[in-house]
Amino acid sequence: MPDHLFYQSAVKLPTIARAQGVYAWDVDGKRYVDACSGAIVAQIGHGHPAVRAAMLDQLDKVAFAYRTQFENQPALDLAQRLVDLGGGRFDRVFFSSGGSESVESALKIARQYWVCRGEPQRKVFIARKPSYHGATMGALSMTSYTPLTQPFAPMFPLYPKVASPTQYRVPAGRSVAEHALACADELEAAILEAGAAHVAAFIAEPIGGASTGAEVPHAGYFSRIREICSRHGVLLILDEVMTGMGRTGRWFGYEHWDVRADIVCLAKGLGAGYYPVSAIMTRAEVTDPVLAAGGFQHGYTYAGNPLASATALAVIDVIEREGLVENAASTGAYLLQSLEQLASRHGFIGDVRGRGFLLAVEYVADRASKEPFAPALCFGDAITRAARDCGLIVYPRKSLMGETGDHTLIAPPLITTPAQCDEIVDLLDAACT
Ligand code: PMP
Repeated sequence: MPDHLFYQSAVKLPTIARAQGVYAWDVDGKRYVDACSGAIVAQIGHGHPAVRAAMLDQLDKVAFAYRTQFENQPALDLAQRLVDLGGGRFDRVFFSSGGSESVESALKIARQYWVCRGEPQRKVFIARKPSYHGATMGALSMTSYTPLTQPFAPMFPLYPKVASPTQYRVPAGRSVAEHALACADELEAAILEAGAAHVAAFIAEPIGGASTGAEVPHAGYFSRIREICSRHGVLLILDEVMTGMGRTGRWFGYEHWDVRADIVCLAKGLGAGYYPVSAIMTRAEVTDPVLAAGGFQHGYTYAGNPLASATALAVIDVIEREGLVENAASTGAYLLQSLEQLASRHGFIGDVRGRGFLLAVEYVADRASKEPFAPALCFGDAITRAARDCGLIVYPRKSLMGETGDHTLIAPPLITTPAQCDEIVDLLDAACT
């Protein structure tokens, strides 16, 4: 049969036939352990009957209604549910469908907030390097990942990027804590360079996902970041597209350090692969000036439709009912420990890190010096392919032009059991051998 589809590369991939729980099967009947929840999406595993039932129930009522014409009860309920999960920190929710859309929404509400507050010169957005915040032009302008940005760089504004805090690669002579604060202080330097009165917002992931490979910042980092943002009146946007919805063993990544964000972006695990759903959570202080001035000039046709909202509500119910946030914390810690044992058997595993079920394995040419493999070697891709041959799906990322090592994210569904973690580690062991 001719193949008319094109996607990220010309590499021929197996065709999936079905999936259940943490397993997937291709059309040839080969079984895979889905150790990355698709794209860190399938939070509650595949084929959950409760979500199917809730979706069918909603389909029988109404699947779509445009929210400029009708409000719908599932959207109202989902907004309330998210506000409740946020523990009262946020009281306004705006829906969209994908992660990039939620980042766009965050950037645009931040920009419109400043315009409506009478500070239209606040146009500069600051992000980190490396980072990934999405594929659309606004989100891409927040992204620092050369292979993705380079082809399009003339098409979007080049905003300042400050260092992502790492625990693995710390410059000689600095402790991890000192390095974290030095990275945070780069934000202040960037704000001062742009002129504090010109900066709209700073965006960061609580735990770097695809970009840094589950790098957990040192405890002092975010309190310094919050302090710097507050001192200069800069909004703090946390991109929780990957870290949200229980992934790191807390409902939201910011809970690990009690970070007070002005806007939080959610996607991936919110619809958990059953339907594309995303959202931003913020506060009335941010949205009121915008609404008073005539409204948020931004919207998406599919945003907060009844089927999307009913799906996300069912996903949240499952996460709560089955204690999956707790499982991500405890079984994730077990998986991290098992991966550390694996690292002791393979000299090219330089580091194993992460929180909850957002874990990463970093591969290096030299463990002692932490020297990355040459980018041309595409070592991470080779491991990903070997894993797939062994029946294990991991989330790949190529070396950032040799700036860091290759890594693969290991981020299975939050339902994963310790026995299934053993299976993941055994298969990765085989792929590394
Ligand atoms: N932000 C982060 C942190 C992400 O990891 C991603 C997707 N990998 C996005 C935004 C973009 O999400 P989407 O692909 O759904 O547009």
